Amino acid sequence: MAQNRIGIHAGVWGFDWSPASAERAISSAASLGYDLIEIPAIDPGRHSAVDTRASLRRHGLESTVSLALTTADDITSADGSIVARGERRLLDAVRFAADIGSRFVGGVVYSAMGRYSAPASAEGRDGSLAVLRRVAVAAAADGITLGVEYVNRYESNLLNTARQTLEFLDELDAPNAVLHLDTFHAHVEEADITDPVMLAGDRLGYIHASESHRGPLGTGSLDWPRLTRTLVAEGYRGDITVETFSSAMLTDDETADIGVWRRLWDDPDRLAAHSLDYLRRQLHEASVVPTSAPLAGSDH
Ligand code: MN
Repeated sequence: MAQNRIGIHAGVWGFDWSPASAERAISSAASLGYDLIEIPAIDPGRHSAVDTRASLRRHGLESTVSLALTTADDITSADGSIVARGERRLLDAVRFAADIGSRFVGGVVYSAMGRYSAPASAEGRDGSLAVLRRVAVAAAADGITLGVEYVNRYESNLLNTARQTLEFLDELDAPNAVLHLDTFHAHVEEADITDPVMLAGDRLGYIHASESHRGPLGTGSLDWPRLTRTLVAEGYRGDITVETFSSAMLTDDETADIGVWRRLWDDPDRLAAHSLDYLRRQLHEASVVPTSAPLAGSDH
């Protein structure tokens, strides 16, 4: 079938993006058979786009870019200097993506990723939309799609469900902005893991395939057969990128940012090989089930 490009998050091999680390992650992902690698634009100023692009070309691997804003560059902030920093970071990520040949920038691009102590304000939401309208225009100029990834209640106060995110996208009104679904977050917040797929329709543009505990796919409580059957039935053709983290490959600061306090796996190459095999098998099995067949669990 091969309708979807299958990717893996570079953070599987750690968040350091020195030329040597980039080469290691890119060569591993390519040799295992992935179509793309998602590169976190943690600080694009320090990234060597030239080295990254060369590595990608050498190994015939495609890429996407992601980022998550922080309290220091939160575009929902009432502090204009913090908002300006966030806009700069988003535009830098778009520039980095263009420089390495990526066509997608996604992630937590609309607020900080972290626990808030108050509800989102109308002003903060409007401020976020105003920044993202400009970022979307800049992205469109480079042929880049902007993915808005909703996350669970402990990691943003603004967008926690597909419905909220689609309303946000309606207001954003940017033709190159799409819903970026992360199954880990959706598993926490949605009544049904297939709801975001059904609600978003063709506005679903990117997926993080992430297990209920962020560990190896197929070892948690996420209903992958049901999800993949729905994706196939709905004709989803976009990228599906494995996102899993383990404290085995992270610094203490990175562990704290993501909240992964344990070793969910030890060997990144083995993990990556397993994830690709698992996802391909799920998609294959989903594609051979007649779409008219009732979905398991659809009777509740
Ligand atoms: Mn994600």
